[in-house]
Amino acid sequence: MGANLTREETAARARAIRIEKQRVSVDVRDATDLSQPTYPVNTSITLTSSGPQTWLDYQGDAVTAVLVDGDPRPVEFDGARIQLRGLPLDQVCVVEVQGASRYSRSGEGMHRFQDPVDAQIYLYTQYEPADARRVFPCFEQPDIKPQFTFELTGPEQWQLLSNQPEISREAMGNEVDHVIFAPTPPLSTYLTCLVAGPYHRVDDVWVSPGGDVELAWLCRASLAPHLDAEELFRITTAGLDYLNVAFGEYVWGKYHQVMVPEYNLGAMENPGLVTYTESYVFRSPATPAQYQQRSNTILHEMSHMWFGDLVTPRWWSDLWLKESFAEFMGAHLSKEAAGFEDAWLNFTGGRKSRAHVADSMPTTHPIVADIPDLEAAKNNFDAITYSKGASALTQLVHYVGLEAFFAGCRLYFERHAFGNATLTDFLAALTETSKMDLQSWADAWLQTRGHDELTAEVQGSDAVIERLVIRRGPGEMDDGTRPHATTVGLYDMVDGRLSLRDRHNVLISSDDTEVAAVVGQPLAVAILPNDTDQSFVRVRLDPATRRALLENVSDLEPLVRATSWASLFSDVRDGTLMVAEYVDAVIVHGPREDRTGILTSLIGHVEDALQRFVPDDRDLATRWRDTCRTVALGAPTGSMRQLQWAKAFIRAAVLAPSDVSWILDGELAGLEMTDDLRWLVWQSLAAQDLASDEALDGALAADDTASGRVAHLHAWYARPRLDLKQEAWNRAHTVDGETNAHLDAILQGLFAPGQTVLTDGFATHYFAALRDVWQDHPVEIARRLVLGGFPANVTHLPLAETWLQENTDASTALRRLVVERRFELEVAARVRAAQL
Ligand SMILES: [Zn+2]
Repeated sequence: MGANLTREETAARARAIRIEKQRVSVDVRDATDLSQPTYPVNTSITLTSSGPQTWLDYQGDAVTAVLVDGDPRPVEFDGARIQLRGLPLDQVCVVEVQGASRYSRSGEGMHRFQDPVDAQIYLYTQYEPADARRVFPCFEQPDIKPQFTFELTGPEQWQLLSNQPEISREAMGNEVDHVIFAPTPPLSTYLTCLVAGPYHRVDDVWVSPGGDVELAWLCRASLAPHLDAEELFRITTAGLDYLNVAFGEYVWGKYHQVMVPEYNLGAMENPGLVTYTESYVFRSPATPAQYQQRSNTILHEMSHMWFGDLVTPRWWSDLWLKESFAEFMGAHLSKEAAGFEDAWLNFTGGRKSRAHVADSMPTTHPIVADIPDLEAAKNNFDAITYSKGASALTQLVHYVGLEAFFAGCRLYFERHAFGNATLTDFLAALTETSKMDLQSWADAWLQTRGHDELTAEVQGSDAVIERLVIRRGPGEMDDGTRPHATTVGLYDMVDGRLSLRDRHNVLISSDDTEVAAVVGQPLAVAILPNDTDQSFVRVRLDPATRRALLENVSDLEPLVRATSWASLFSDVRDGTLMVAEYVDAVIVHGPREDRTGILTSLIGHVEDALQRFVPDDRDLATRWRDTCRTVALGAPTGSMRQLQWAKAFIRAAVLAPSDVSWILDGELAGLEMTDDLRWLVWQSLAAQDLASDEALDGALAADDTASGRVAHLHAWYARPRLDLKQEAWNRAHTVDGETNAHLDAILQGLFAPGQTVLTDGFATHYFAALRDVWQDHPVEIARRLVLGGFPANVTHLPLAETWLQENTDASTALRRLVVERRFELEVAARVRAAQL
């Protein structure tokens, strides 16, 4: 009983009931009255049951009535489930429930947000994996797919939206409208959605072979000047054109996309009504890599309209399949449909490198994970499921070919449209179209944890290659080996530049794979297995190759630069490459880097290394800071290069103190002083104790917006004063205190870089309070407190060890977070110990 739902009980429920349709009526007319914590909800479900008893999932505030075929029944509601008893056997009946649901401040369920600029109220829902039940009573499992009819009552001047188009609107008086939407096709609860509020809206039409489809982009009214609708529609239309051919007709009637405030994730694929984080409304100049990342997300969600929405995983154990698929398609479509040439390169430097880290942790798991219940499902929205899975799927596409892959997808969509399916069904379709046996591939890639390591070993004499072998060995946490269809590149110095001599396709299916084509060639300066990043592996560089990369990496083509830097940073984390050697290489090559995605990841790695691995190396931090300043000062005025390096300098000044207020005064000629940039300066000054209350409040008065308030909180608590830190700690831990976005800001300020000595005292409190924190807060808030507050100082490793030993009975989700943070602390300790 309770809020957790197991695979067994939901499978039994799916077998026992057949549900035809569900009508849901939600009344948010009083949402603008912030003293109203709840809103009325009504639902009626038409179903047939083979047993007298089942239950509805609901996490509302109250249930006021339960009726079966019009007969009132006793209300049996424990806060998570409503018991239904005495159902007529094997005949259609109608179950009605009336209740009241709570507005949320954690981004789960029906989130309510007030815009500080104009005091307007905005609502949106977010459900995956199982939060529809926070809004309305339902059968919360992906393999029960009713045809939903939503009704929404709200202020008449608001946008009132759901997955399907509006079919009727009735004025209720007092400026309130009641809207009914067209019935959905069969749809899982987690994919339903409601959006309400005075959203700014831009409309367009997609002309498809099947007829015109209504498009719209929406955002808060106060963000309207920043919404670049033209570019957003360009990507939308390009993606729909491509997918309509590759996968078959778009079936959801309309396609609305909404940027929503205080969002916990990047986006959600509700069919016909996709929601996105507002950080995709760029308030200040964005890099090409940021535009590309946004395009990736838009196209990721769009591909879910087929994979996930039209055909839905039967249970969360196949979460990986829809997410890996969408990740692959996001990058593929960004390049092939939307014209972002660097889409795969950014995947390499960003999400894939995080997947490597996750796959090295003790908590890693096979891509196909065992998901016995919802708690386990929630834990698996992780880098293994999304990014390692996408890398494996990329290997599969290389293996079977893109044509056969898409043909297999079409067959799978046709066969299972509006239903549920599993990995077995997908592989069956793909096997039919590719005529290949995919089972051994699936077993090797999907059922094992960890990843292989590849090393190039060359034997030669008289400067000639006699033998080149790619060795495949087990990596960390590895419990299998995998085939790799990839490349190996040989590189020479030509006219003082490291240049590609030759690239060979290799199929690595044993532990020693010979590259016969190179025998008799001259020895190479560098040999790079997987240089085009076609597989998911850890490449161990031989010493000569590593030296050549450290000296010449910027000579290489962009994708090879990205894979090379990834290997070098893995060496840093292993303690086999000194932090200073890595940072000095970035100091030399970073300023020559013209791909913003690669540069962003390099700057991020340097900042990470300086903060966690060598916190006492003031010389290195100073060298980094001065490089950033010099490059920013020398960059073309108003360029992206100037902006990226200026930001890096402002952050670097926190670890190597330097008054950055001159940037506020406009002394970096041509640099556009946006609100976001101004706040970055204030946060840096605050962390250096160079910002008074008055100054920060003045900055807020100049930008009293939602993001301004978040940035102000961050700056406020970044000041190195114990009284402020204590206040931040108390605010963060107040139950029902802060929204998700404000909590992030408070924690960032509280644990600003370079202040571990000041915040060391919280470590004991942190572990003492951990279980209460997990119990007392909604999971999205609790996660932030657990991750954000984890001690950064390696001296606290024993505290983490003790907690883990003494709390073996704590929730698996909580333990997993602690184990992963402890792992990172161990990495930091190992790297520190390895420095010469
Ligand atoms: Zn997704």
